[in-house]
Amino acid sequence: MSDPKVEVLISRTYPPIGIDGLDKWVIVEPGLFDYPVPEGTTPALFGSRCTKCGRTFFPKRILCPDCFDQGNMEIKRLNSRGIIYSSTVVRVPSPVGIKPPYAYGYVDIPGDNIRVYALFVGNDPASFAPGKEVELVIEPFAVNKQGQRIIGYKFKSVA
Ligand SMILES: [Zn+2]
Repeated sequence: MSDPKVEVLISRTYPPIGIDGLDKWVIVEPGLFDYPVPEGTTPALFGSRCTKCGRTFFPKRILCPDCFDQGNMEIKRLNSRGIIYSSTVVRVPSPVGIKPPYAYGYVDIPGDNIRVYALFVGNDPASFAPGKEVELVIEPFAVNKQGQRIIGYKFKSVA
């Protein structure tokens, strides 16, 4: 990537090497969020914002689908709180190793005016009814075939 800001963010999110020479964990996709979460900050997803029209996207994009001009996208830390738009509980194992039951759905991030797809912490449908407030957490959601914990983003219910 040519944007130096993007490269700095990605290099900060690569996992350290474990004592046995294997990584103990991996990021589901580098650059989606800051990990480990820097001290004194709240977790945040990294989106991109078009400096021309102001629209925000997640995951990041190189080009704005409205403007199609290069060089207008900047990295934006998204707000960590959102409102459930829709949700469901899955009761069969996921092909990527997520144990059932688990919940996922769409979260509206009002401050950034976007809707994000995400896993949820817990599986009680009442916690994830449309309109409920949730906040972002960065945590393992599965273990891969190499025994590494896969770190991803989820939303949890705000009590
Ligand atoms: Zn735009």
